[in-house]
Amino acid sequence: MASGKNKNQTSLALHKVIMVGSGGVGKSALTLQFMYDEFVEDYEPTKADSYRKKVVLDGEDVQIDILDTAGQEDYAAIRDNYFRSGEGFLLLFSITEHESFTATSEFREQILRVKEEKEEAIPLLLVGNKSDLEERRQVSADEATAKASEWGVQYVETSAKTRANVDKVFFDLMREVRKKKISESKDKNGLSGKKKKKRCCIL
Ligand code: GDP
Ligand code: MG
Repeated sequence: MASGKNKNQTSLALHKVIMVGSGGVGKSALTLQFMYDEFVEDYEPTKADSYRKKVVLDGEDVQIDILDTAGQEDYAAIRDNYFRSGEGFLLLFSITEHESFTATSEFREQILRVKEEKEEAIPLLLVGNKSDLEERRQVSADEATAKASEWGVQYVETSAKTRANVDKVFFDLMREVRKKKISESKDKNGLSGKKKKKRCCIL
C-alpha cells in the first residue's frame, strides 16, 4: 500500500516556485503561512529552505515545491542556480518599505538574465506583502499596479499575518506555470512529430 502511495505521488505534476525579494519583506512568513497555516514572526532571516506540499489545483492533484531564498542570493552563482531551477516566481516587497519595492526591478532583471527566455513567458507575480499594516504604507497600490502592468504581470497584495490572498498568489502562480508547461509540451509534440516524419524519410 505504501509503495502504491509513493508511486502515485511521484507521478504528480511538480511546480517549482521561488520566493524572491529583499530581506524582511515576508518571504518566509508567506511561505510558512501557505504551508502550515501559521504566522511565524521570527523565522531565521538568513535561512533558505525548500518546502513541498501536495495541493489540488483546479481539481488536479499536484505538488508545489517552494524555495524560500534568504540573502545567499547576493552570491551571484548561488542566486543564478536558484533562479534557473525556478519555474515560477513570487517577487515580493513590503508595502511598508519603498526601498523593497524599488529592489523588485533589479531582482526581475536578474531573473530575466538567468532564464534567458522571453520576459512575457516567465510566470511571475508582483506581490505587495504586509497589507495588514495599512497605516505604515509607503507604496501605493496605484504605483505597484503601474509597475506590474508595465511588466505584463499581475499585482496582488497579501498579508502573511491575516492570510489575506496567501492561497491566491501561490495558486495563481501555479496556474501560470501549468499553462506554460502545457503550451511548451504542445510545441514539443509538434516539433517531435515533424522530426519523426523526417526520420522516416531517411530510413
Ligand atoms: P523574509 O526576510 O523576506 O523572509 O521576511 P520574514 O518572513 O522573516 O519577515 C520579516 C518580518 O516581517 C518578521 O518579523 C515577520 O513577522 C514580519 N512580517 C512578514 N509578513 C508580514 C505581514 O504580512 N504582516 C505583518 N504585520 N508582518 C509581517
Ligand atoms: Mg526569510
